[in-house]
Amino acid sequence: MEPNTQDNIIEVENLVKRYGSFEAVKGISFTVKRGEIFGLLGPNGAGKSTTLEIMETLREKTSGKVHVGGFDLDKQPNKIKEIIGVQLQSSGYYPGLKLVELLELFAGLYNRDIDPMALLAKVNLEDKAKATFKQLSGGQKQRFSIATTLIHDPQIIFLDEPTTGLDPQARRNLWDLIKEIQKKGTTVILTTHYMDEAELLCDRVAIIDQGTIIRMATPDELIDDLLSTGFERPKEMKRANLEDVFIYLTGHSLRDF
Ligand code: ADP
Ligand code: MG
Repeated sequence: MEPNTQDNIIEVENLVKRYGSFEAVKGISFTVKRGEIFGLLGPNGAGKSTTLEIMETLREKTSGKVHVGGFDLDKQPNKIKEIIGVQLQSSGYYPGLKLVELLELFAGLYNRDIDPMALLAKVNLEDKAKATFKQLSGGQKQRFSIATTLIHDPQIIFLDEPTTGLDPQARRNLWDLIKEIQKKGTTVILTTHYMDEAELLCDRVAIIDQGTIIRMATPDELIDDLLSTGFERPKEMKRANLEDVFIYLTGHSLRDF
């Protein structure tokens, strides 16, 4: 694997995906810079997962150009596979195996020698080493599946709605983990419905609706643009919200140990 020094680690040009006669992705273009956390935001059915899975080499595109890590998806999909980490749906995990065994199994698939305990430590699951996947809480499952994306030291990881269904503590814990992964130099592409999450985590976001990117910028730029139209929130907001209350009352620490 050659180190890739170009600034854009992902380039997508005019990507189209049709399912039969239905066009789910309608010619979108975007780039992701090396080292950033890039968010694909959009309502259900917008085309986020389709776009992600095409970049992950898991789904065929209809047309368009995709480069990941400098590799052309049409020519070197296997090179792309080597440098990316993909979060699997939970159904992909053998339910009877312990976490350490699962990590060793994945490492074998990637042909890597790993220290499973060190990997579990990264995602704060050392004391669950002997548990099976199905014994984990929702947040623990998400952390474990993120650990599996890191086995082969990928340059990019893809996370499809990593915090959907988690409680506020587990969400915050996952945000910290994603930021730490970025700090180590990994590029992160994620999808989310949670705008607070996107605002806090993402360096840049693309807002996608009905298969089209309608805006792409930093969260700050998008908010400033809206304000410059004269937009105001309908009523004076209180300086805290119910989530603040919840975190204040129940604390930041995880409950699912
Ligand atoms: P998102 O992840 O943003 O919710 P998806 O990429 O999953 O959106 O889906 C985009 C659109 O494509 C939706 O209308 C969905 O119903 C449709 N779609 C997704 N996968 C398939 C498929 N395998 N066959 C037909 N239609 C699909
Ligand atoms: Mg989706």
